[in-house]
Amino acid sequence: MSNTERTFIAVKPDGVQRGLFPEILSRFFNKGYKLVAIKLTMANEPLLREHYADLQSKPFFPSLLSYMLSGPVLATVWEGKDVVKQGRILLGATNPLASAPGTIRGDFAVDMGRNIIHGSDSVETAEKEIALWFKKEELVDYKPTLYSWIYE
Ligand code: UDP
Ligand code: MG
Repeated sequence: MSNTERTFIAVKPDGVQRGLFPEILSRFFNKGYKLVAIKLTMANEPLLREHYADLQSKPFFPSLLSYMLSGPVLATVWEGKDVVKQGRILLGATNPLASAPGTIRGDFAVDMGRNIIHGSDSVETAEKEIALWFKKEELVDYKPTLYSWIYE
């Protein structure tokens, strides 16, 4: 299993406005994952239509669009062993009411349309999402000093 797998994690506008992003970043750092890119950015409609391409025909799509355009998003990329799947576990279920306490959505959210965070659902999706939200040169290459304390 590769230690250089990557996932795209975005704190949505509600998570940013509620000041929850330090806590969210901590959970990924504490687990042992490496931050390789981060920026506070406003999404735009073409980007979101591509990001959520599989959901365009859903009845909730218009409200999802306006939610994601309602303020800045904190876009991040994380790297590490099994980070895509583990990231989804850290997030919890799409519906915060079905998310266990201890997960990010389970601890900090109530409504599906205000579930504070996005995480890629597969390695393939992660690659697409990272390329969509970040330029290549925004992904930083470095070795974390704690690396040998995380990986044997
Ligand atoms: N969403 C919603 N209502 C639904 C399903 C999804 O508002 O019935 C929103 C929710 O914010 C979710 C996003 O659309 O996070 C993307 O949906 P997806 O099924 O991809 O869930 P995720 O991968 O974010 O858990
Ligand atoms: Mg999804």
